[in-house]
Amino acid sequence: MRLKDKVAVITGGASGIGRETALLFANEGASVVVADVSDEAGKDVAAEIGKTVGHGCFVHADVSKAADCESMISMAETAFGKLDILFNNAGIMDGADDDAVTTAEAIWDRTMAINLKGVFFGCKYGVPALRRNGGGVIINTASFVAVVGAATPQLAYTASKGGVLAMTRELATVHARENIRVNALCPGPLRTELLMNYLDTEEKRERRLVHVPMGRFGEAKEMAQAALYLASEESSYVTGTSFLVDGGLTSAYVTPE
Ligand code: NAD
Repeated sequence: MRLKDKVAVITGGASGIGRETALLFANEGASVVVADVSDEAGKDVAAEIGKTVGHGCFVHADVSKAADCESMISMAETAFGKLDILFNNAGIMDGADDDAVTTAEAIWDRTMAINLKGVFFGCKYGVPALRRNGGGVIINTASFVAVVGAATPQLAYTASKGGVLAMTRELATVHARENIRVNALCPGPLRTELLMNYLDTEEKRERRLVHVPMGRFGEAKEMAQAALYLASEESSYVTGTSFLVDGGLTSAYVTPE
């Protein structure tokens, strides 16, 4: 088992990447605090964890609220005694997020509050807990849109993920000598609820796939495997990286027919 006796907090743990990662980490021996605003789905994930070798619990946490982030970290320490792994993964993609002219200020603010400030709050309370533990790992979910521009605009989302990458590099640098590794996971387009709700017609989905050399959407399970690598000792010399798991999207100029 690659995460035996480790304790993880996973935000956005009720669905998609977070859910698959919670189950995979637990199968690898970790105790997992599933943090989300979606209570029913989050409790279901915690219950499913109960069927694995690991332990799980759910905590309602809106990552845009400082007090919620403080209590999700406390939950790890009170329920499981420590924090080893913080996966700042919760994020939204608002259907009304568009170009600079069209995007409403409220959409910009909400996207930043969850996708960017949420990572800051996770670290604000998570870093002291990792210090108390003598070190650990932070993984922040960014996106391929943080490194390439998309012609289908979602300006607030893109800006928020660029911020996550910049923050990840600085966190990695500042905390490197405290035995805290910080990396960004940059998924390509995935077949999760988040993107399928956004690309809500077959035509839109096909248009996105034109840019993926592998010609298919990624799976949340494939991101969970990447997160497992970043969380485990196997990546012991990896910090500050933007780990692209994108089917080749950001390497391609022209994709195969
Ligand atoms: P998802 O919608 O399946 O899961 C996101 C989870 O975050 C949900 O359970 C949701 O309830 C939770 N959440 C939303 N707002 C929250 C808040 N304020 N506080 C706590 N939890 C909140 O989506 P996913 O595809 O698994 O996305 C996970 C991460 O991956 C996000 O940061 C997303 O931006 C990123 N990402 C996704 C894709 C993709 O194609 N799906 C691509 C690149 C990056």
